[in-house]
Amino acid sequence: MSAKRIRTWARITQSDRSSRIEHGSLTTGLNNEPIRVLNIAKRILGCVILIGFASSSFGQSAHSTPLRLPPTRAGAANLKIEGVNYVPISDLQRRCGFHATWLKKDEQLILKNERWRLELNVNSREADLNGLRILLGEPCRLQKRVAYLSKVDAERLLGPVLRPGYLQPAVPDLRVIAIDPGHGGVDNGTQNVRLGLREKVLTLDVAVRLGRILRAEGYKVVFTRETDTRVELPIRAATANTYGADLFISLHFNSLPRDRKTNGVEVFTFAPAGVRSTDAWGSKVDDTENDPAPVNKHDHWCSVAAYALHREMLGTLKTFDRGKKIAHFGVLRGLNCPGVLVEAGFLSSDTEASKIATHEYRQKIAESIASGIRSYASTLSALRASESKKAN
Ligand SMILES: [Zn+2]
Repeated sequence: MSAKRIRTWARITQSDRSSRIEHGSLTTGLNNEPIRVLNIAKRILGCVILIGFASSSFGQSAHSTPLRLPPTRAGAANLKIEGVNYVPISDLQRRCGFHATWLKKDEQLILKNERWRLELNVNSREADLNGLRILLGEPCRLQKRVAYLSKVDAERLLGPVLRPGYLQPAVPDLRVIAIDPGHGGVDNGTQNVRLGLREKVLTLDVAVRLGRILRAEGYKVVFTRETDTRVELPIRAATANTYGADLFISLHFNSLPRDRKTNGVEVFTFAPAGVRSTDAWGSKVDDTENDPAPVNKHDHWCSVAAYALHREMLGTLKTFDRGKKIAHFGVLRGLNCPGVLVEAGFLSSDTEASKIATHEYRQKIAESIASGIRSYASTLSALRASESKKAN
């Protein structure tokens, strides 16, 4: 900006300057051109910053009321669709500073910020978060050209992953970890008879490997079983509660009858109250539970932990992503802490089962779960750090 333009601008703001003189801020050097120019330049700079700040806030509100993006219109009200509570996606957008665009008009919506790329599909529970498959509790909806997400997804399943700790009274501790090797004793779990593999043996093996890694990192580790014994599901949760576990990891392997091809990893949390299991849609029986289970108090952190495990397992094992799902697993129900159940691969697939049969692959599974726990731990400590910063 030239000196001449600065002077012109100064004249315009003459009255403003007079008032500042009255307040004594410019009582010296009024006739001193360099100081005057310096002061004016400072004010221009302030103005530029102000304009920048204002335009960035406008930018944000423009994102929540984008002219060409009706799906995220701000101010849309919460509503009920087929008995389910929905919130406008603009709520999530505002909370996370997302920029929204249609990938396919009225069908596929992309929400993006510097950390996340979330893909939602209208009338579908399929979502993609940074390349991971997430099964929503309820389908995403479009009403009067505004996109909606169910309240349960916004508050308990997807929302917590996008902004961990949001509206949570406290950040949980992570010192004691309960490891639950699925099945045991007379309960073999699933088997691959052709390869002579039993789920109960494999889950215990992975549990021991995982426990070793976590203990070396300083965690207190509790096992729900350490031998080939049958332990009832509620007892497993009760054991974790007795030892004051801060996180519960249940280990399983999957199978499908008459299917030797399906493979990959699935990660489960307990279904929040009022929403059915991922696999209880379509012609299946609706298994919605209206009363919350003890573990539902921890829905927020279950979702945060599950995402961390899901990402690290997929990243390490490079297997097929069967998705993050919800179910009413008895082993998770009674927990007084966040809990995640992982299905680390399919024994019904000979190809995947042959990998699982090797020590190397089972060690990899254990390591991938340990990195998931590490990632969850670092999310918690980052939140704790920002909390104590706020408190100071
Ligand atoms: Zn199992």
